[in-house]
Amino acid sequence: ADEVKTNFIHLEIDKDLADNKNGGAVLMRFPPEPNGYLHIGHAKSICLNFSLAQKYGGGCNLRFDDTNPVKEDVEYVESIQEDVKWLGFDWEGEVKFASDYFQQLYEWAIKLIKSGKAYVDDQSADTIAKQKGTPTEPGMESPFRNRSVEENLDLFERMKKGEFAAGEKVLRAKIDMASSNMHMRDPLMYRIIHESHHRTGDQWCIYPMYDFAHGQEDFIEGITHSICTLEFEVHRPLYNWFLDQIMAADPEVQNNVRPRQIEFARLNLNYTVMSKRKLLELVQKGIVSGWDDPRMPTVSALRRRGYTPESIRAFADKVGVARRDGVIDMALLESCVREDLNKRAARVNAVVNPIKLIITNYPEGKEEMVEVINNPEDDSMGSRQVPFAREVYIERDDFMEEPPRKFFRLGPGREVRLKGAYAVTCTDYKKNEAGEIEEIYCTYDPETKSGSTTVTRKIKGILHWVEAKHALDAEVRMYDRLYSHEAPASQKDVDHLEFINPDSLQVITAKVEPSLKGVKPLDKFQFQRVGYFCVDKDSSSEKLVFNRTVALKDSWSK
Ligand code: ATP
Ligand code: MG
Ligand code: MG
Repeated sequence: ADEVKTNFIHLEIDKDLADNKNGGAVLMRFPPEPNGYLHIGHAKSICLNFSLAQKYGGGCNLRFDDTNPVKEDVEYVESIQEDVKWLGFDWEGEVKFASDYFQQLYEWAIKLIKSGKAYVDDQSADTIAKQKGTPTEPGMESPFRNRSVEENLDLFERMKKGEFAAGEKVLRAKIDMASSNMHMRDPLMYRIIHESHHRTGDQWCIYPMYDFAHGQEDFIEGITHSICTLEFEVHRPLYNWFLDQIMAADPEVQNNVRPRQIEFARLNLNYTVMSKRKLLELVQKGIVSGWDDPRMPTVSALRRRGYTPESIRAFADKVGVARRDGVIDMALLESCVREDLNKRAARVNAVVNPIKLIITNYPEGKEEMVEVINNPEDDSMGSRQVPFAREVYIERDDFMEEPPRKFFRLGPGREVRLKGAYAVTCTDYKKNEAGEIEEIYCTYDPETKSGSTTVTRKIKGILHWVEAKHALDAEVRMYDRLYSHEAPASQKDVDHLEFINPDSLQVITAKVEPSLKGVKPLDKFQFQRVGYFCVDKDSSSEKLVFNRTVALKDSWSK
């Protein structure tokens, strides 16, 4: 793998290692909540955590933060594992689940109650929120704050047994209602949810909140560095407070590795949204065909669209690690996949907007094979034979009735080379009643066959083409950005759905060369002079379907 540029996280880890913290161990984790498919922001976090593990010779856990049964599902657990593997990473040991630690978290909660650091509150979520106060004014203490330890233990036990309805009671940490950090104002530790969990079923009806769960999960696993996004910076004192409490309350764990939270700026991309809730909305409202609709910013969609893991990892490296939020241009992601596919994708001929070209002096019924190379960037990919005959398809855009001087393509009287075959000169063309050009007539020069020609005259234009009789029809899905607004998720008072680009998908029928007959989903090609394309999962030998991964040139910059 390429060496990653030094970033501030390296400096922090270097410092911890120099101080011999945690005996020199480095263990990272990637902790998705299984409530949706991974998106490119998660991919950034995956690349970051796993590459830190690689750099320091440590490991990286995959841990599902499955603490909210309402939104979580095994479908997501499975897709997330598939995506992490596909990106090219191996987690340490078995997959981990927060739900495996429910019993331990519960026992720690009891220890906190016993040491007077947690209490059961009977008030509603609304009331508790109101009592929190504002950053400049202290909050109000709950009337239940000074319950006895015995009463708290009893109530918490009864919460666990299911004696109360959701919202009737919560467990709160007893910290400081006047803290300048709002997260320290007696945050919630547990809430009641009567809902079946995808792993623990109905065993639990109390579920730990993120703040009480995350740091303790890190602690249980021996995570040394817990990387998260910037919005958690304000949670860090609480992360540390809970660790202090359980380490003080539980002598057995005092020598354990102590994790430390480090924040970095989340990845934002323009022209898309990166919140699972909004992505789910797109799926549920049928605006896209599913989580892997190739217009989505999810890992599964990028894969289906033709992105390679290498291109996504290169993107993550280029984005780097920042401490300040910013927005990355979609063009950067596209340039990464273009660069990678340029090296690995076979060149093939496909005509996306076909018009027939008839070579009037080429014998009727004659057919020959011409040899074309598969990838000029990689000789080892060899060459193949494609049929050539009297009738071929070329792109409609490659012909003009009255071309300007610098149009190095076809026009009346002009000569171009059909790539890999012969030079042809346009002698005539035919229009239909609507005035559209229907056929183009040319003559060819048999002396100009590619590879064997002795003809030295300069032919500037080189066109791609597909022989008409053997051409296959293929459905080609051309994608444009899903939103027409640069920042669809951050417009005040306007819902992101207002900015959906109505023309983000255009389906056309292309003529492609017969060598593509047996292609399989995920096979990747460069359609010469057009762009990079990937075989879709809907494709079969009866009906070929391609996705445009990206156009050849950067179509995003103005
Ligand atoms: P979303 O807002 O999309 O629901 P999330 O942060 O709630 O994302 P999690 O499943 O909790 O989703 O995220 C797992 C990990 O991925 C976390 O460590 C989180 O910090 C990281 N992550 C999520 N989104 C991004 C992003 N846009 N850029 C970088 N890291 C991200
Ligand atoms: Mg989250
Ligand atoms: Mg979320």
